[in-house]
Amino acid sequence: MRKRAEALQALVDETFDVVVIGGGITGAGVALDAASRGFSVALVEQADFASGTSSRSSKLVHGGLRYLQNFDLGLVREALLERQLLVKLAPHIVRPLKLVVPAFGGARPDLITGIGLNMYDVMSTPRLVARRSSRRAATPGLEEGDWSWARHRVISGEEAASLLPALAGRNPTGGYLFYDCQTDDARLVLTVLAEAERFGAVCANRLEVHELAHQQGRAAGVRVLDREGGEELTVRAANVVNATGVWADRIRPEELHSEAEVPVIRPSRGTHITLAHADLPLVAGAIVPAGEGRTIFALPWLGRSLIGTTDNNYDGPLDHVSPPAEDVDYLLDAVNSFFASTLTVRNLTGAFAGVRPLISTGDSRKSVDISRKAELYETSSGMITITGGKLTTWRRMAKMAVDALVEREGRYAPCRTAEIPLGQIIESDRLSRVLGVPEGSYEALAQRYGHDAEKVLAVVAERAELATPILPALPDLLGEAVYAARYEQARTVFDVLARRTRLGLLAGAELSDPHCAAPRRVAEVLGWEFGWEPARVDDEVAAFRAEAAAEGIAGTGAAMEGAR
Ligand SMILES: Cc1cc2nc3c(=O)[nH]c(=O)nc-3n(C[C@H](O)[C@H](O)[C@H](O)COP(=O)(O)OP(=O)(O)OC[C@H]3O[C@@H](n4cnc5c(N)ncnc54)[C@H](O)[C@@H]3O)c2cc1C
Repeated sequence: MRKRAEALQALVDETFDVVVIGGGITGAGVALDAASRGFSVALVEQADFASGTSSRSSKLVHGGLRYLQNFDLGLVREALLERQLLVKLAPHIVRPLKLVVPAFGGARPDLITGIGLNMYDVMSTPRLVARRSSRRAATPGLEEGDWSWARHRVISGEEAASLLPALAGRNPTGGYLFYDCQTDDARLVLTVLAEAERFGAVCANRLEVHELAHQQGRAAGVRVLDREGGEELTVRAANVVNATGVWADRIRPEELHSEAEVPVIRPSRGTHITLAHADLPLVAGAIVPAGEGRTIFALPWLGRSLIGTTDNNYDGPLDHVSPPAEDVDYLLDAVNSFFASTLTVRNLTGAFAGVRPLISTGDSRKSVDISRKAELYETSSGMITITGGKLTTWRRMAKMAVDALVEREGRYAPCRTAEIPLGQIIESDRLSRVLGVPEGSYEALAQRYGHDAEKVLAVVAERAELATPILPALPDLLGEAVYAARYEQARTVFDVLARRTRLGLLAGAELSDPHCAAPRRVAEVLGWEFGWEPARVDDEVAAFRAEAAAEGIAGTGAAMEGAR
């Protein structure tokens, strides 16, 4: 990505066709879609890219088997087609994942689940559309044969135990095996933003929109506060797209609240915990019953086991959303009763929480039942808001928003994102070898950056220290911090540890330990890159510790332990 200072200069110098507010997956998608259709695009993010909900998901690119229970067939079908498209467009970062629904005591695998999985298989074929109506074109970008994985199938107890070693003590006797996809959500956002930049979009973080700029009563840009420099600036643009997720009704609230047809956002908090693979070994993901008909996921992710999620109405602050002790207990109870394990908060390697931008239809049902559909609406200033939806369906949400702009401007500019590859895949054994880099890191680099891993390795080769892992047991390299600062607008230690790498989620407990050297090592290389004085390095380490505590990434911190 372009350096932040350069982006800032371009934002004040130029007048854009569109300014996008929000650097989560939806905003990144809108920037890519609009830029690739020929619009000049600016994107401003108040904190860090993906620091909102888009770094706090369950990391699944999926149709959502459980939405079938609600007969939300359109949503599931749409998401399944997007899943197939994304695994084709970004194969290094959207990858197939095996999931198991085990059965015990010789029972036949649950019939209802089997029917659901049959529907899931059928709904994921692009051909369905063409069959239903020969006049309707199949999904652009998808061809017959793209989806090469097997349909779901019944598996033996042995196979279930080999895919879920953590379950071995319960002797599964069978089960279903099916497929979905998994990603690294924050890295997906960065990948989409990088692609948007290649089409000319100008993106900058730490720019908070506090009001719209107007011309003759119409939105003509945004007034932003530079959260780093403290200055106010105006980004001029003919169109404004509000892609601020759960914050969407905070942009011009007086405008939104006075318009009756505008949907209401009902935030819902979801908590995840991470565990060491040795404590809960998983080769595939599992659907885990969690009481009262609810289920959670237990998933292998970046070498850890990721457990989540809860789903509860939330009305707390949005800037730092932390996992509450009762959510952590709920997840541990579900895991222990399913896997017959005895895990406690002391086993957590990390924890995180996020808030879903669910759209309320006006009734008072629980958040689990509120729609996951995307909502697009235009308010009286002409600002277009796009919110709701899922990580999986970002491309469709972006298309909805940009189609509205195209229609408004009377352009001929069809959506192209179904054909735009997101990065480039590379096999890890083809990466250049750099002295000192542990062999296991190459695979992690190839999966995170695709072909750009070569660029990361060029940075790593600058100094011997950069080839060392940030934490001894995990593959992320110190050189990635330099790369993140130089090419991805990372500005703080937390940016590097929580979103450029994912150590904040995978090793939040270790990083929160005051004796852990990693935050200081990262601060020092950032200081070297940005020319910080030693006192600034100290301040940045302290800022990391404060943010880690506010986000509750340790999950097992003293405060939580004490609360029990
Ligand atoms: C616990 C949980 C699990 C989930 N799991 C999945 C899953 O497995 N699969 C799936 O498909 N979906 C999942 N989702 C849903 C998915 O994560 C969200 O739908 C998606 O990330 C929302 O992206 P967004 O860009 O709309 O919002 P966000 O990612 O929140 O982005 C909005 C951005 O706008 C910025 N912003 C706000 N106000 C301003 C302002 N005034 N000026 C500038 N910027 C501003 C924010 O800082 C933020 O970065 C999950 C959600 C949660 C909470």
